[in-house]
Amino acid sequence: MEKTYIITLIPGDGTGPEITETVKKVLAATGVRINWDTVIAGETALQKLGTPLPDNVIESIRKNKIALKGPLTTPIGTGFRSVNVALRQILNLYACLRPCKSYKGVKSRYQDLDLVLVRENTEDLYAGIEFAPESNEAKEIVKMSKGKAREGSAISIKPISKIGSEQIVRFAFEYAVKHKRKKVTAVAKANIMKITDGLFYDTAREVAKKYPSIEYEEKLVDNMCMQLVQKPELYDVLVLPNLYGDILSDLCAGLIGGLGIAPGANFGEDMALFEAVHGSAPKYTGMNKVNPTALLLSSKLMLDYIGETEKASRLEKALSAVIAEGRRVTYDLGGKSTTADMGDAIIERLG
Ligand code: NAD
Repeated sequence: MEKTYIITLIPGDGTGPEITETVKKVLAATGVRINWDTVIAGETALQKLGTPLPDNVIESIRKNKIALKGPLTTPIGTGFRSVNVALRQILNLYACLRPCKSYKGVKSRYQDLDLVLVRENTEDLYAGIEFAPESNEAKEIVKMSKGKAREGSAISIKPISKIGSEQIVRFAFEYAVKHKRKKVTAVAKANIMKITDGLFYDTAREVAKKYPSIEYEEKLVDNMCMQLVQKPELYDVLVLPNLYGDILSDLCAGLIGGLGIAPGANFGEDMALFEAVHGSAPKYTGMNKVNPTALLLSSKLMLDYIGETEKASRLEKALSAVIAEGRRVTYDLGGKSTTADMGDAIIERLG
């Protein structure tokens, strides 16, 4: 008998519910049996339950060990912390994997790209250690800085640990070995942040010695941006601290044709949460217009993770055939299809 998986589903905010509905249907059509444990978070939960991250969300993911998540809205500049960041930190989902692969039929200046970005997910400026200018902590730090920080500065702290760096670089190398990749590039800005990014590079160099069959190199993040625009084909697996990883994820998504097709996954020791790189695209909410591909490719990664590799590969084949054909695709791929219709086209392809 086929196994039934219990998986946490967070439909998300904005366009999230439209996308997750389509993804659920496509996954069902692959034949994989999933009982969805649906919980709400983000703006939707704030409105209905008064909190953006109800306890049952964390409990459900801890219990089921696997989650699929639609995008969650984070208001800018308010006291409301990002639920996405909180989930990764609370569950210690320290490794963020963002494959960037070209698909035929997607308009882009670049063809045949197959890059993988590995982003540290829990440290760095995303640790959320910030002090307002009037706080005692900020004043104390300004004093300690001996004139380097001006009085009245708001302060953000960037913790980078040896353990955290070791974990993420090892993840990148293990990924490279498992997927027969040739090179790992560590990306940071250690010429300026000599101590924090310096620790990241020092640790990465140590880890790299344990993987002599994989080439290792370092690039400064500003140079890396230019290199990726000019000759992305030279790169294979990139490993980065949190902030650079977040920014370069969108850059890499741009290289392969946009956020509509960029998948992601967050891994901890014994659990994983799968989500697209893109956000809730609020201006398209309720229009059934956005591309389900990014979350579909994230669920392909989820099927691989649970060992359903044959179904994962069928899903990717059906999806890439629909994209290549270009008849029933969403606006961002040059088509006129709705989210749901593109999903139906993929289901027909699955046969
Ligand atoms: P966004 O990714 O939501 O959208 C930016 C633009 O990209 C959209 O206007 C649209 O043109 C395009 N786009 C995004 N997804 C698409 C799709 N599936 N198909 C076609 N086009 C797509 O970024 P934003 O507007 O900066 O963020 C909106 C909200 O989402 C913010 O609150 C932000 O904090 C949040 N966010 C959440 C996540 C997450 O849940 N992991 C990630 C990024 C942003």
